[in-house]
Amino acid sequence: MPEILIYHNEAQQYASHIQELGYKGILRIARTPEEAARHIEGAEVILGWNVPDSLLAAPEGQSVRWIQSTGAGIDNLANSPRVPAPVTLTRIVDQYGRVMAEYVLGYMLFHNKEMKRLLEAQQSRRWDGFRVDTLEGKIIGVAGLGSIGAEIVAKARAFHMQVYGLSRGTDKAPLVDRHFTSGEWTDFVKQLDYLVVALPLTQDTRYTVNQEVLAAMKPGACLINVGRGGLIDEKALIGQLQQRPELTAVLDVFDREPLDRDNPLWELPNVIITPHLSGPSRVPDVSRYFMANLDLYIQGLPLRGVVDRIRGY
Ligand code: NDP
Repeated sequence: MPEILIYHNEAQQYASHIQELGYKGILRIARTPEEAARHIEGAEVILGWNVPDSLLAAPEGQSVRWIQSTGAGIDNLANSPRVPAPVTLTRIVDQYGRVMAEYVLGYMLFHNKEMKRLLEAQQSRRWDGFRVDTLEGKIIGVAGLGSIGAEIVAKARAFHMQVYGLSRGTDKAPLVDRHFTSGEWTDFVKQLDYLVVALPLTQDTRYTVNQEVLAAMKPGACLINVGRGGLIDEKALIGQLQQRPELTAVLDVFDREPLDRDNPLWELPNVIITPHLSGPSRVPDVSRYFMANLDLYIQGLPLRGVVDRIRGY
């Protein structure tokens, strides 16, 4: 059995689950980078979230062969030159799409049905009757048509929306009514009522939603980011939201998390902030996924969710 280091603030829970699922080897746990640095020596496998790349660069980290992320993203390692090429990186695939699509649909309905206005009216005992809008016929654009984007597309279709999509290649084009690729961002966004960003963070996608893209969004549009904070140029976003109060942004992820208390986003009335919770990782589910992958690893078979280090996702 390969020795495992678990690096997570719920490391103990992971350890218990993995042992219950039959792991009998040496298990070390760490909650901080300092603890991880003390326990890394001899570990062949790391199960963790936001594993610091410095661990892999240190001489004690040379025994590591495989890192399983407890989440769907592993961008800090996939994009790091400090992680030696032979180290295999895996992420969780196919477990977040449905729950994240609920988040997206929930906030689209909140926006479309003007629920904030209704709650405010109720609080001040005001009978604020108005003609409520519908999602039917509205255009949603999903950037990133992977396991998460595809579920968002499916739920949007159930609401009879028009569905546009953007991805790197063209093989996902049949999923959507109109398909765009990475060179076509401004054309993509200009007709959208809802822009949903569900991309991985890579060298190609960092700040891909920039000033030009944001300025091309149509009046009254709503941007929902469930991918990673670094996909959006936050300064440009703040500028646009200040200049164009009719725009809305629903943000689950940020360049720096937790979001700094003095970040201007907190104060903007046209922003909804949620603390990176749209796609929760559940310890029992991730433990089962990991143990299935560990079986494959021990047998020398291909693992599930392997990150392509060249593509970055
Ligand atoms: P997938 O790998 O299944 O899909 C990624 C999609 O992004 C693919 O359609 C891919 O295109 C597209 N893409 C990649 N690079 C580019 C590019 N340069 N330009 C245009 N499109 C590109 O990922 P998932 O759907 O599983 O996850 C997406 C991201 O969601 C994760 O990487 C993670 O960062 C984030 N996430 C956030 C969570 C949260 O709680 N907020 C929870 C879980 C995930 P192609 O189809 O051509 O390969």
